[in-house]
Amino acid sequence: MKRGLTNVYVRTDPDFSTLIMESTAPLSHTVRKSSHNIYELILDGELIMAKDTISIYDGLINTVRVEQQDEKPMVSVSLQHPASYRLKRTRGIPDRLEICFDRGYIKKVMKDRLIVIDPGHGGGDTGRRGYINLLEKNVVMHIASFLKSKIIGTGARAVLTREKDISLGLKDRLEVAGLLEADLWISIHTRWVRNKDACGAGGSYHSKPGELLAGLILEELYKKLKLENRGIKEESLTGVVDAIGSMASIPFVTIEVCTISNPVEEGWLRSPVFKERTAQAITNGIVRYYDSNRHERDKNIFR
Ligand SMILES: [Zn+2]
Repeated sequence: MKRGLTNVYVRTDPDFSTLIMESTAPLSHTVRKSSHNIYELILDGELIMAKDTISIYDGLINTVRVEQQDEKPMVSVSLQHPASYRLKRTRGIPDRLEICFDRGYIKKVMKDRLIVIDPGHGGGDTGRRGYINLLEKNVVMHIASFLKSKIIGTGARAVLTREKDISLGLKDRLEVAGLLEADLWISIHTRWVRNKDACGAGGSYHSKPGELLAGLILEELYKKLKLENRGIKEESLTGVVDAIGSMASIPFVTIEVCTISNPVEEGWLRSPVFKERTAQAITNGIVRYYDSNRHERDKNIFR
């Protein structure tokens, strides 16, 4: 049997993003940091699997590239944030070399945050209906539930404005943020466009800091799911500004995750995997938002 690399994949849990490299025999390896947040592993053996670039976007690992350099397999990992790592080897068939990247940076960024997640519509208010009869109120509830567990996985707290299929006024939805002194309010919807070829994700912000946040979330939805970015708009929630009141310094955003009136994207919305990935992309945007705030704060200190 050839000695070489056969398989590469990533396993994510709240504490570690682990890159697993399987081979037919134990291969010696070297790790080097090639540039900012990019690590390269050179393995001593043949490349048995196909060359590949794998999109991960789990919040820490962005992509994994498998290629050949000087006739040896090279695996490059690009990270979103700085992370320390440790190596683990499990001998057997296959032989496994694991590189465990610590997700502590994300936890530091998200520590003590409280995120209010608002699943749009509910009860008699079904929201929009797709061609294959999916209802917006149900799909946004699923995505919101995934989002809640993803946020909790970062070490932050998360609360839903509705846990059940009930109708709720906008004022009540917003006031949850005030009552709990939340750090962020995000409402989950889908887009609806008369032209059924229209596709993609959009968003709006209802307080100034929401502009950056909504933009980052749309970027992440594109990176992870190739959902076209239909842009964000400012939208004041008329008559309920008082509910936001003194909380205007935190982001209030509405994200339309994809277009339910497009039969292809409606089909995606039937898939639990798609909904979970959507929730991960939103979480990645939220973490990047707080991370950029941290840099701002640091800059101010050193000024
Ligand atoms: Zn809606």
